[in-house]
Amino acid sequence: MSSTEPSVFSKIIAREIPATVVAEDDRVIAIEDIEPKAPVHVLVIPKTEQYRDVTELAAGDPELLAHVVATARRIADERAGGQFRLVFNTGEAAGQTVFHVHAHVLAGDLHEGNLI
Ligand code: 5GP
Repeated sequence: MSSTEPSVFSKIIAREIPATVVAEDDRVIAIEDIEPKAPVHVLVIPKTEQYRDVTELAAGDPELLAHVVATARRIADERAGGQFRLVFNTGEAAGQTVFHVHAHVLAGDLHEGNLI
């Protein structure tokens, strides 16, 4: 994909491709991961695709990062009794495949075997 092409998440935000939307406001969307790695596996995605990863987001808009974390907290409260793992894969060698920053909210029956 060229850097000028919208990310898969931008296409989901624009409703150009379908997704199961769990929560949405003016700044973020939360969707079910298409290949869940845990009983609860939700992605919280800033609507802007200006930031490739969490380090860029933290430097560029810490308030938006805090909003991503608060959204994750709320989803985990609603779906998993408030206990969850928050993962930001950062870089290809670390498993990042979509370079539009997103948080994985993982909850449920977590153990060593389902690290992502
Ligand atoms: P990453 O590997 O970049 O940390 O995470 C990308 C995540 O996006 C993966 O867990 C992958 O399953 C998910 N994903 C990729 N394409 C789609 C899609 O079209 N729809 C949804 N709902 N999730 C997707």
